[in-house]
Amino acid sequence: MMQIDILTLFPEMFSGVFGQSILQKATEKSAVHYNVVNFREYADNKHSTVDDYPYGGGAGMVLQPQPIFDAVTALKEQANSKKQPRVILLCPQGERYGQKKAEELAKEEHLIFICGHYEGYDERIREHVVTDEISIGDYVLTGGELGAMVVVDSVVRLLPEVLGNQESHMKDSFSTGLLEHPHYTRPADFRGLKVPDVLLSGNHKLIEEWRNKEALRRTLLRRPDLFENIQLTSEQEKWLKEVKKDYE
Ligand code: SAM
Repeated sequence: MMQIDILTLFPEMFSGVFGQSILQKATEKSAVHYNVVNFREYADNKHSTVDDYPYGGGAGMVLQPQPIFDAVTALKEQANSKKQPRVILLCPQGERYGQKKAEELAKEEHLIFICGHYEGYDERIREHVVTDEISIGDYVLTGGELGAMVVVDSVVRLLPEVLGNQESHMKDSFSTGLLEHPHYTRPADFRGLKVPDVLLSGNHKLIEEWRNKEALRRTLLRRPDLFENIQLTSEQEKWLKEVKKDYE
């Protein structure tokens, strides 16, 4: 079972997200255990203060090292796993998050997330506690909580026991390196808007070929940059050429 610890000043934010849908079902299936901890509990001063003014002056408050150093040490001591956990700092200056990183983290046994707030963290946290710094995009959030939820959601759905159909995430956008093909469901004719004939044909080979070509088309039209990082098979190269002809 994967252990996920979240260090935050706002633990209530997580109950909705972790208590619903697939993230909640993952706990019922014993695929994951969430432990959301308010790191203020680890502050060793009378008023449980966790932040202070920045040395050198300037706006905003900075999270102090002591509560986070001690909270991470305690979580490591409580852990069952012998392997060291990944300690992930949510931070706009971190590595840009993507599906490859989700796949990498899904292989771990223990993840600890540190959610910042205010102006940021004392640099010694970054240097001495953290193994990974993750940004969920080039914008600034008020805190790391939403970022941690994004990462946890994308990792937990990859755990083998979690999604009913093992294949259902293997063709997801980015898992294959491409965007996924379009989907249709009933009715076959919705107010004159028709489902492509091939999907109603019952011919699995043709359907598979159509899906492959449409995934290539989507990627070509929306995210051509993705082609730089994947090696297409000779069959995919052939389909891509055919797709490109539609735009000549
Ligand atoms: N002063 C910091 C800077 O310029 O890099 C921004 C601090 S931000 C207001 C407060 C916290 O929100 C950060 O410490 C981090 O935990 C979280 N955060 C903000 N933007 C984020 C992003 N793009 N990805 C992940 N976490 C983010």
